[in-house]
Amino acid sequence: MSVLVYTESEQGKFKKVAFEVASYARAVADQLGTSVTAISINAEDPSILGAYGVTKVLNITDEKLSAFNAKSYANVINQAADEQGSKVVIVSSSADSKYLAPLLAIALKAGYASNVVAAPSSISPFTVKRTAFTNKAFNETSISTDIKLIGVSKNAFGLKENETEAEVTNYSPSIPENGVHVESVDKATDKVTIADAEIVISGGRGLKGPENWGMIEDLAEVLGAATACSKPVSDLGWRPHGEHVGQTGKPVASNLYIAIGISGAIQHLAGINASKVKLVINTDPEAPFFKAADYGVVGDAFEVVPALIEKLKAF
Ligand code: FAD
Repeated sequence: MSVLVYTESEQGKFKKVAFEVASYARAVADQLGTSVTAISINAEDPSILGAYGVTKVLNITDEKLSAFNAKSYANVINQAADEQGSKVVIVSSSADSKYLAPLLAIALKAGYASNVVAAPSSISPFTVKRTAFTNKAFNETSISTDIKLIGVSKNAFGLKENETEAEVTNYSPSIPENGVHVESVDKATDKVTIADAEIVISGGRGLKGPENWGMIEDLAEVLGAATACSKPVSDLGWRPHGEHVGQTGKPVASNLYIAIGISGAIQHLAGINASKVKLVINTDPEAPFFKAADYGVVGDAFEVVPALIEKLKAF
C-alpha cells in the first residue's frame, strides 16, 4: 500500500507545490515503510517526480481534464486510490485544492486535515500541525479514520531532491460526464502567477487609481514577481479580479510579500499571513499592516517605489 500524492500542474508544467507535496509524501512513506505513487494529470515528463521521492507515476493524459475541474479531478484521484488500495492520500492546500479536497475526502470516506504547515511528526505522520482561524493560530490534529487525506500548505516543507527517475505508467480512469464544461483562459502568459510566485508585489487603494500601476508592474518586473492587489482595488475595476488576494481572494504563501498602499485589514492579512517575509510601504505609521509586517517603510509610495526600482536596477 503506497502513499498516493496528487501533483498539480498547469499547462503541462508541474507547479512548485507538486514537488513539495511529493517530498512530504516521501517523508510520510519513509515513516510507514512504503513507497510513493503520484498522480499526474496532463503534465509533461512526469518521470522528474522521481527526484522528489516518487517511485511510480500514474500518468493521465486526457483532453477532458485539460482544465481543472474539482469534481472530475476528485473522481479520478478517488479511482486511483481505490485501485491502489491507498490508505493515505496527500494533496496540496492550494487554491484549487480548496475545492478538490473536500470532494475527495467524501469520495474516499477519509478524515481530512488541510493547511498542514510542518514536517510529519516523528510520533505519527497522522498527527499534523495546521494553521487555523485564517492563519492566526496553529493546532495539532490527529486523523483517526481508516483512510487519511492530508493537505499540505505551500512553503511548509522543503524539497527533498535526488537523482532518481520515477517509473511512469499510463493510467486511463473513467471520466464521467458531469455536465460542466470548464475552459481555461490564459490572460497573462508571460507573467508569474500569484500561486507560484516567490515574490508578490501588491497594491492597495493608497495608489489612488489604475493609472498608477505602472510602477507596480515595473517593480514586479525587476524582481521577477507576480502582481496582486487588495479587494477594493479589484472591486473598483482598477485591477483584474484574479489579482485580488485575501480571505475572499487568492491565498499567498510567497517568500516575500510587498504591500504598497494597503492598510492591513484582517481580511487582507488572512490571505497573506503564510508569506515568509512581509514588507509594507504606507504613509500612515498607524496602519495595522505595520504590526503584521517584518519590515516597514513609512513613506509615500510615489516616492519610495520609484527610488526602490532605481536602486534595484543599479544593483
Ligand atoms: P484602504 O483601507 O483604503 O487603505 C489604503 C492605505 O493606503 C491606507 O493605509 C493609507 O494610509 C495608504 N496610503 C494612502 N496613500 C498612500 C501613499 N501615497 N503611499 C503609501 N500608502 C498610502 N480585503 C482584501 O484586501 N482582501 C480580501 O479578501 C477581503 N475580503 C473581505 C471580506 C469581507 C467579508 C469584508 C467585510 C471585507 C473584505 N476585505 C478584503 C476588505 C477589507 O476589510 C479592507 O476594506 C481592504 O482590505 C482595504 O483595502 P486597502 O488596504 O487597499 O484600502
